Amino acid sequence: MKVLLAGHFAALRLIFGALGALSATACARSAPDGATSAAVPATAVSTARVSAGAGRNLALVNGRWLVGDRFVSVTRYVVDGTLRDRFRGAPDSTLDLNGGFVVPPFGEAHNHNVEAPARVDALIARYLRDGVFYVENPNVLPRSRTALAGKVNTPTSIDVIFANGGLTGSGGHPIGVVRRNIAHGGMTAEDGDGQFYWEIDNAGDLARRWPAILAQHPDFIKVYLLYSEEYERRRADTAAVGWRGLNPALVSDVVRRAHAASLRVAAHVETAADFRAAIAAGVDQVAHMPGFRGDERVQLPDPAPYTLTDADARNAARRRVVVVTTLGGAGELDPAGADSLTRRALDALHRRNLSTLRRAGVRLAVGSDTYRDDSKAEVRYLHSLGVFSDTALVQLWSQETPRAIFPGRAVGRLGVGDEASFLVLACDPLARFACTDSIRWRMKDGRLLSALP
Ligand SMILES: [Zn+2]
Repeated sequence: MKVLLAGHFAALRLIFGALGALSATACARSAPDGATSAAVPATAVSTARVSAGAGRNLALVNGRWLVGDRFVSVTRYVVDGTLRDRFRGAPDSTLDLNGGFVVPPFGEAHNHNVEAPARVDALIARYLRDGVFYVENPNVLPRSRTALAGKVNTPTSIDVIFANGGLTGSGGHPIGVVRRNIAHGGMTAEDGDGQFYWEIDNAGDLARRWPAILAQHPDFIKVYLLYSEEYERRRADTAAVGWRGLNPALVSDVVRRAHAASLRVAAHVETAADFRAAIAAGVDQVAHMPGFRGDERVQLPDPAPYTLTDADARNAARRRVVVVTTLGGAGELDPAGADSLTRRALDALHRRNLSTLRRAGVRLAVGSDTYRDDSKAEVRYLHSLGVFSDTALVQLWSQETPRAIFPGRAVGRLGVGDEASFLVLACDPLARFACTDSIRWRMKDGRLLSALP
């Protein structure tokens, strides 16, 4: 097997022992001396299948592994796609991490950009290059998702969960998204109700449509709450089309049905009242922080309707609800430009709400909800707020977010029995957060991904 290395990171050396088709037992006596390494240009595209799990194993030496909130120098082994701390006999091959800092891959807990296959190869390459391996898409056309079969959720690609169409009220968000897409030719009239969203106005609608919702096999259920404290008024107001959502009184019924089907529920929110309604109804995730985009005009003259209280945070913490950030949009407003007032008001609101949630111990996850982001700009904005230490932000992005997306999987940690997926960084991200950019090596499900485009 020819092994390709990214030449711009000569410090990492891959040392191979017997790379023939020998079993671990057969090569137990052939220690990896006389090893060779080769360098290729950084532009080369290759997925080097090193110890791909199928009966092969790998020793990982000289790495510093993130365990909790510190790095520990240990040798780890990859056996059948999982991490081990010991291995009987000689491994098939040895990867010298040369002092690199090993962290779990990052997560993006709110993005809709993993959808139609037109540009998906480049998108997946970008996610992998940035070290973001786990993605949650909280609203997608079922037909787009079908077209992605084989592209995602494979050992060498990103892993994605999909909500399919979200549940909203008549004329509710995201109807505007569908209308815009129909105008641009990206969707047809058939893609609206029953596909990209489900219009549900009462308990009868929910009972009648629920079997069809489940028949599309969502990975989780998305509900839309927008200014739910004004639900009755907005329902009758044609000017509020696209700026209203599900009747908040129906959410607990949705949660009950979803949980009976072993599905989690994520709630879109705009205001603190939406957040309160979502928590009270028993949702598992809140897909935004209140005021993430300001008011309906994307301004913030009055932060009060979007400000969380300590009681809100305590209730969310008690119910183990995960709150997804989606705050990075504020970072696109120039602090010295025309929107500087809005920028400062949003920064202040986001700092305050994040602090309130963290003080109460609420579980958070990084999500950008931005088509051209993959959570990298989102964490950069979170870092700029000064609410998180570098260590806390690394843990949020690499440990807590992947676990929030895939709570049933051994991701977001690097212990014995966990999935053999990780990033090797050139410098210590706990000392300097920018080191999360210094990815020199990526392993996914026991396969080494090298020299991504
Ligand atoms: Zn969204």
